[in-house]
Amino acid sequence: MLDFEYTDDELLAAAELYPSTWIVKHAIKNEVGTPLDFTKRKFLVDMYNDMSPHQVMLKPPQIGATVMNTLKALYVAKKKKKQIIYTLPTQGDVQDMVGGSFNRIIAQNPVLLDWVKDKDTIEQKAVGDSMIFYRGTFTSKQAMMIPSGLNIHDEVDASDQDVITQYETRLQAQEDGGWRWYFSHPSLSGHGVDIYWQQSDKKEWHITCPHCGDEHYMTWPDSVDTERECFQCKACKAELPTEARINGRWIDKDGRVWDGTPLIGTFSGWHVSQLMLHNKTAKELINASNDPNKDKQYFYNYVLGLPYIGSDDRIEPDVVLRNCEDIVNPQTSRVIIGADTGHGIHFTLMNSDGVFYYEHATLAQYKDPYDRIEEMLKKFPRSIAMFDQGGDLIGVRKLQAKYPGRVFLCWYRKDRKTVDLATWGQHEEYGKVIIDRNRLMTLIVEQMRDTGRIRLNGSQEEWEEWASHFGYIYREQVKTKELKDKDDSSLYGTQYVWKRNGPDHFVHTLMYAYVGLQKFGGGEAAIVTGNSMFNVPTGMTTDQQNYIPPSAFSNPEYQVEL
Ligand SMILES: [Zn+2]
Repeated sequence: MLDFEYTDDELLAAAELYPSTWIVKHAIKNEVGTPLDFTKRKFLVDMYNDMSPHQVMLKPPQIGATVMNTLKALYVAKKKKKQIIYTLPTQGDVQDMVGGSFNRIIAQNPVLLDWVKDKDTIEQKAVGDSMIFYRGTFTSKQAMMIPSGLNIHDEVDASDQDVITQYETRLQAQEDGGWRWYFSHPSLSGHGVDIYWQQSDKKEWHITCPHCGDEHYMTWPDSVDTERECFQCKACKAELPTEARINGRWIDKDGRVWDGTPLIGTFSGWHVSQLMLHNKTAKELINASNDPNKDKQYFYNYVLGLPYIGSDDRIEPDVVLRNCEDIVNPQTSRVIIGADTGHGIHFTLMNSDGVFYYEHATLAQYKDPYDRIEEMLKKFPRSIAMFDQGGDLIGVRKLQAKYPGRVFLCWYRKDRKTVDLATWGQHEEYGKVIIDRNRLMTLIVEQMRDTGRIRLNGSQEEWEEWASHFGYIYREQVKTKELKDKDDSSLYGTQYVWKRNGPDHFVHTLMYAYVGLQKFGGGEAAIVTGNSMFNVPTGMTTDQQNYIPPSAFSNPEYQVEL
């Protein structure tokens, strides 16, 4: 037990130490005169109090961010005596914010009227001994040449990125590197505020389920039950009361609970989504996601507070499933087996009538999953198997020896615009195929989007697991490093690279099968029956453009990161 009590004076002095307690002490009101109240927006308290030099916030609208940023700026200018540059996208935004919210907040609060002298202009406010300068990024193409202790960039994603970068560079020249805060609704992945978010500790608001006690943060769509139209626990699926969403704590990407200590050397990151808001119902969010007048990006940016991965840069499993046709494949034309090794073997069977079968042969089921592929080679005597080169090559080589001319090894290589999507090895390189990974993946995704081009034989339920793998691939723009001694403009600039954020095996099985089908599907090439070969397909083509140099298999230029 404490053997002393704080005096009222001491408590009042202590209340000045944090923005949130300062707000309560002075009953600070928002622009319409309502006192700020954190009881239903508990997540705001830590955000108000964060005094980390580098901060980033992903925010949807309606969370009270304008008021928070205004009050934090005033607090830092007055109490920390820092000169502040506050940028907004345009001069009109400055007019709206300072002439509107800012001036009205000041007018509502006597303590702030003491701090700010009203003779100031829109662009410049004296706060105690410091100044806050408001600037639009499009109006002033040059960063301000005044010393500043804190730069606040609001609505980063709508701002001129070059001007934001200029401010960054200028501030970094200062001795302590300067303080930099970035706030915005996000836009595209890898753009604007997302750049800083990626460098942050990525705090999320963790809630505890009152039914099962599981602690986690809410995400779309797992935290919403579209049938019951309620928020649900991701673990036990029980309905979450509003109270559970209000009460939470901020935990970073490494599982550390936020204790208010300013982060030094790394960005302090805050992500707010409308899932956290007490006054948003599950039904409102479901309606927003189904709104035919709003695109997916709108929902990501303005409801979920997340950067969006452009629609051309990913494909929803639902879209893949539109290619399902409830017909039975006659299995009369040549079957191509596309196989991805790694965790057991994933494989897909297709022929000119469509994609008709997939399976994940696991080590638990088969002593050697390659036996399962051999079963397929026997079941379909004219079939061709296409394997990735990332796995256990011994299994593939055994099959190649046993089924000559029918088993191929696929190599992914870098995007080089001068050659075909697939290149087939000749002579000593026979049995090897080089695939232009990124361009082929783009093609497959485009074909999937153009419903009916790649037919999936069967029902949507049957193809659901297979299609789910397409949900884990996404495309990013990557700046190509200049290659020395290569005078080829096509090698420079930005290119698309497909990445994955989950299991994507079946995507690759389709890519391999697709390449095989282009070569063998028409039946014009190798005719293979059992173990005897006729017209051994030595190379399929004599086109020199389509020839794999032997160095391709040792030259790192041909390798890609998978
Ligand atoms: Zn639960």
